[in-house]
Amino acid sequence: MNKEELLKVWKKFTENNNFILNPDQEHVATIIDGVLLNEKKFGLKLCPCRLRDGTREKDLELICPCNFKTHSTWLKPHSGRKPMCWCGLFEKR
Ligand code: SF4
Repeated sequence: MNKEELLKVWKKFTENNNFILNPDQEHVATIIDGVLLNEKKFGLKLCPCRLRDGTREKDLELICPCNFKTHSTWLKPHSGRKPMCWCGLFEKR
């Protein structure tokens, strides 16, 4: 999967949901690069903002998109920021 295809998948993922992709395209592009690099290195589209512990079981929890509505950055955003995933890829609509 290339950058454009991944972006398309993520946009589709936000349809009919209460979140959007971060409007900062540069930030989204950085996340895409990180996810695709992880896929190349580890064979999974892993979150670029968190460290893996090397176990397959834990790695599966880091596949992007993750269960980000459980993150503190979604549940208790601070500093006037919108609720968002840990990496700021998805934010509340
Ligand atoms: S925190 Fe955001 S970028 Fe990281 S895996 Fe979850 S949805 Fe993807």
